[in-house]
Amino acid sequence: DDLSDLIAAGIRDVPDFPKPGITFKDITPLLATPASLRAVVTAVADRYAGAGVDTVVGLEARGFILGAPVALELDAGFVPIRKAGKLPSRTLRESYDLEYGTATVEMHADAITPGSRVLIVDDVLATGGTSRAAVELVRKAGGTVVGLSVLMELASLQGRDQLSDVNVHALTVV
Ligand code: IMP
Repeated sequence: DDLSDLIAAGIRDVPDFPKPGITFKDITPLLATPASLRAVVTAVADRYAGAGVDTVVGLEARGFILGAPVALELDAGFVPIRKAGKLPSRTLRESYDLEYGTATVEMHADAITPGSRVLIVDDVLATGGTSRAAVELVRKAGGTVVGLSVLMELASLQGRDQLSDVNVHALTVV
């Protein structure tokens, strides 16, 4: 459809980034194009309009770029989840396994009002580790995860397998 075409046109494959053998999906052309930026923000907001979203949680860093305008469209607030050590006040933390080593993400402990309805937004769903950690953080804070919305899901990495208890919405699946 039109949206899939816009997204396909706006995302370029960068070979061997960040390391040899990895092909990185670069969404910066999509962000730089007014029509596609608006189309993806509107598509995510439309999908969750009427779902009673109180808070949009964006994952560092591209989840911030997409999440904030989605929050405005939904009349929701915006809360960042960041890599460890970046947030100034008291945080909740969650670690997850990478191919080599672990990663830790944080959210301010008081950022989400218990009982509030939360939509998590990111650009790319790959192995699902980052998204899984975000779901755990929101639940630790007492929030209800209404959904996880991404621009692009890389199906071969089977991220959804880790997210069977979450409503996962991908604008495109490759
Ligand atoms: P995962 O934890 O393996 O699912 O990786 C997802 C996280 O890494 C997201 O925050 C993405 O922004 C980032 N990521 C992984 N692969 C790509 C890619 O090809 N393009 C852009 N971001 C990616």
